[in-house]
Amino acid sequence: MNQTIQNFSIGQVLDMQKKAFIEEGPVSAQLRIERLQQVIDMLVECKNPLCQAMGEDFGGRPSVFSLGNDVLGSLASLKHARDSLSGWLDDSPRPSIKPFDMFGATAWVKYQPKGVIGIIGTWNAPLFTLLSPLACAFAAGNRAVLKPSEIAPRTAQVLAEAIAKRFDPQILAVVQGGPEVAAEFAEQPWNHLVFTGSTVVGKLIMTAAAKNLVPVTLELGGKSPVLVSDTADLENAAERIAVGKSLNSGQLCVSPDTVWVHESRLQELVEKMGAVYEGLYPTIDGNGDVTPIINERHLARVQSYVEDAKARGVQVIEVGGAQTGSDRRLPLAIAINPPQDCEISQHEIFGPAMVVRSFKHLRDAVSEINAGERPLALYYFGSDEAELAWVLNNTLSGGVTVNDVTMHPALEEAPFGGVGASGMGHYHGREGFLEFSHARSVYRAGSHDPRREWGMLPPYTQQFAEM
Ligand code: NAD
Repeated sequence: MNQTIQNFSIGQVLDMQKKAFIEEGPVSAQLRIERLQQVIDMLVECKNPLCQAMGEDFGGRPSVFSLGNDVLGSLASLKHARDSLSGWLDDSPRPSIKPFDMFGATAWVKYQPKGVIGIIGTWNAPLFTLLSPLACAFAAGNRAVLKPSEIAPRTAQVLAEAIAKRFDPQILAVVQGGPEVAAEFAEQPWNHLVFTGSTVVGKLIMTAAAKNLVPVTLELGGKSPVLVSDTADLENAAERIAVGKSLNSGQLCVSPDTVWVHESRLQELVEKMGAVYEGLYPTIDGNGDVTPIINERHLARVQSYVEDAKARGVQVIEVGGAQTGSDRRLPLAIAINPPQDCEISQHEIFGPAMVVRSFKHLRDAVSEINAGERPLALYYFGSDEAELAWVLNNTLSGGVTVNDVTMHPALEEAPFGGVGASGMGHYHGREGFLEFSHARSVYRAGSHDPRREWGMLPPYTQQFAEM
């Protein structure tokens, strides 16, 4: 079937997929693998137009970054799901589930697809935030409808065309549109809904989904902190933080946002980070290696955080020149110890700026982090194993990277997701497969039912109590 879905409402596309899902019956491992392979083949064939589209959406994002982050990142998830799903599906009887074993029963857990998954993506990783969750959704045997971000419209269009050419819309479809379409999307009775975006919109999505009791995976953001221990190699910390911060010009959900360092080492760390950043980007304006800010609205947002800090008398170091925003490329701004009520302290920065704060004792920094919302990522630089264990035991975040930043989301077999205000649920790995499966307990009775002879059924006798 090769019909266009443009003439259908989102509700009709969902109904069509739900009907086809039921009519199809069990989705074999082989069929899941074939569907994943179809997405893999599509990505490989369309990588150039997709990277070009991402470049155009950002006004000049380097193709190498689009290829690595979005194409290869998505391919890694899809290939891992393809190669792992047979093991994930294992529903052989579990001897460890002892279902009244004196009854001679057996039991197992059967993982069944939920049905149709709605996936809303975001612009900063416009392919990855759709296709990486899709990998787990398909591995679990579901069908899916994707809603790309309207803020990356070229990518949305190229992806929609590529999918329409290769997929029956009863299996995989794309709907496009702005916030109104996204709101309508969130109101549908999906069997599961995935949303990647801000915490503010995440709350709207969950409210809409609750009306139909739709389970949600919310991949949100927050102010991911970095703890630089006194035992950290400052050279290494500066190098890795600066490189991580520079990715996509800080427009990354796990971008290091606030760096905590002992007061005696603050200046040295800032200088070293600045030097690394300048080495990566000797110029900013017109430098094709610098990802532009996605649009004027986000440019103004990041600039306003920096201007607000400066206006409050905060020391702001601009690495690469003053923030002109010409061709929407911005230098790195580092705000030193801004007050807590500054804009840059209050909001997820999501751009090439960061806060550096000093501590006297690392535990004080941890207390401040714990007083805020739970972040998507937490980073620790140091070589003290006991201190690392203490940090891990006394903080909570979606994930953690030690002695580097932004790396844990690339672990294909480990769950990726937030906690608290940074989200709920996961994709990646077996946890991702489980997220989009219904874990169905099956109890199979033995041939003999001893309950009557044991006195467990009325008319009751003392016999059972005396056993
Ligand atoms: P956003 O919340 O503004 O928009 C995301 C999507 O929500 C868009 O596609 C839009 O169409 C839709 N939307 C907007 N208003 C809506 C409404 N009223 N009802 C329903 N849907 C609506 O986020 P953004 O600016 O696109 O992305 C930036 C945020 O995403 C940051 O907070 C970042 O940390 C987060 N993010 C998280 C992850 C992750 O994996 N956790 C990955 C990337 C980005």
